Amino acid sequence: MSVEQFDVVVAGGGPSGSTVATLVAMQGHRVLLLEKEVFPRYQIGESLLPSTVHGVCKMLGVSEELAAANFPVKRGGTFRWGARPEPWTFSFSVSPRITGPKAFAYQVERAKFDHILLKNARSKGVDVREGCTVTEVLEDSERITGVRYTDADGNEREVSATFVIDASGNKSRLYSKVGGSREYSEFFRSLALFGYFEGGKRLPEPYSGNILSVAFDSGWFWYIPLSDTLTSVGAVVRREDADKIQGDRESALNALIAECPLISEYLSGATRVTSGNYGELRVRKDYSYQQPSYWRPGMILIGDAACFVDPVFSSGVHLATYSAMLAARSINSVLDGDMDEKTALTEFEARYRREYSVYYEFLVAFYEMHVDEESYFWSAKKVTKDVEHTEIESFVDLVGGLSSGEAVLAAKTRIAEHSAEFAAAVDQMAGGDDANMVPLFKSHVVRQVMQEGGQEQMRVVLGEDAEPELPLFPGGLVTSPDGMKWLPHRPV
Ligand code: FAD
Repeated sequence: MSVEQFDVVVAGGGPSGSTVATLVAMQGHRVLLLEKEVFPRYQIGESLLPSTVHGVCKMLGVSEELAAANFPVKRGGTFRWGARPEPWTFSFSVSPRITGPKAFAYQVERAKFDHILLKNARSKGVDVREGCTVTEVLEDSERITGVRYTDADGNEREVSATFVIDASGNKSRLYSKVGGSREYSEFFRSLALFGYFEGGKRLPEPYSGNILSVAFDSGWFWYIPLSDTLTSVGAVVRREDADKIQGDRESALNALIAECPLISEYLSGATRVTSGNYGELRVRKDYSYQQPSYWRPGMILIGDAACFVDPVFSSGVHLATYSAMLAARSINSVLDGDMDEKTALTEFEARYRREYSVYYEFLVAFYEMHVDEESYFWSAKKVTKDVEHTEIESFVDLVGGLSSGEAVLAAKTRIAEHSAEFAAAVDQMAGGDDANMVPLFKSHVVRQVMQEGGQEQMRVVLGEDAEPELPLFPGGLVTSPDGMKWLPHRPV
């Protein structure tokens, strides 16, 4: 069997896999992505956050395609939750890290959204192979060295790579090669029963695209508008109430809807979709878990392969794409010889764990039903350790995926965009005709200094908007202006 060689091989072409593959390929590295299914394929997880839409998707270069796809615009969330009997609404526009016109995310049909990201990966140079199932992760004594997979024609193949990325979601067991077993949360152990309806009501404008989340005795419902007429509806029930979703799914869902007056009212004129991809009533465990380690030499876990936290704040795709971006930064830094693997991946894991923990801790407080929303806002401020902003601002930052303070995720005109322009100009000069310039600019060190210099200049232009990025942890790394790599922190 001939063994192909790549810099990176990615197992799984969901949002995490296509994001990491694209961001590494954009830096000129050889990337293979193996996806078991042939896209478009169904997936749950339809409500996105601004950090994904305006941060990661912008870096991937799919903003225009997303805008053209006509996904419903989600300006925030509406909750019937906690002590207050009436629904309350938050708007992403409250976040200090978002500028007005960008105060939204999308509600997406995942078959379409994931396909956009996968096609984009291919167009950015990733070798994408669909219908290919990774069956085994290969190792020598110290390192992971590649994978074995079955191709679309049923042939067994082997690939070797400097890095293997497990982005294969919550079901595959590839992650076990990193070591240790999944640590399941005792607190979040629910089951979801969900389907699709035509003709459900909409919230009043301007919030008709909001996610509506409604707590009731057995758990809570999500109600997500996917078009003017199509709605994704799911009941999440606690483990103790699991018998409520056993047996005939249709009767079970109808009984749960009847338990919840607001959802009954919204679905009063609607009919359930019973054919096509949306015709099935599906059940999923949504147990929260994390792996004890997110990497080992030669292998990295991202997205649901690494961890999952209760879906009430729609954080799944955010954690998937954010972890993919952090992993890509680490891989790009190592493959370019900027730093060693341990330094780069320690930063990856620390940031990823911080983001997971912020959601986890906040969600524990959010399930306290005897308090009102002011108390939830206060909890958000507490878990994010945000001393700069008000409680509601901290809450909206957290639920918008922005609490890390990462400039590249923030939905505002930012220094990184201008610095990226400067970096592109430097790159252009490096490839230009001036024979005297080329050797100088081709030097990696000189280019880095020029790019950092660009960042300083932009700070002068943008004033207080251009805060210098600080490490998230003492002694940690900072992000390069274009968000593609890590840099050592040099205090001024
Ligand atoms: P996936 O999207 O699962 O992609 C993994 C890919 O890997 C798949 O395409 C699969 O075919 C492929 N694969 C698997 N095994 C192999 C293999 N051996 N070889 C090759 N390919 C393989 N998130 C949100 O953001 N918003 C929501 O509203 C939301 N609601 C949710 C509701 C519920 C009930 C649940 C359970 C989750 C929800 N999520 C939500 C979470 C979201 O579904 C996931 O977090 C997200 O899909 C993770 O992306 P991923 O790329 O890591 O994995």
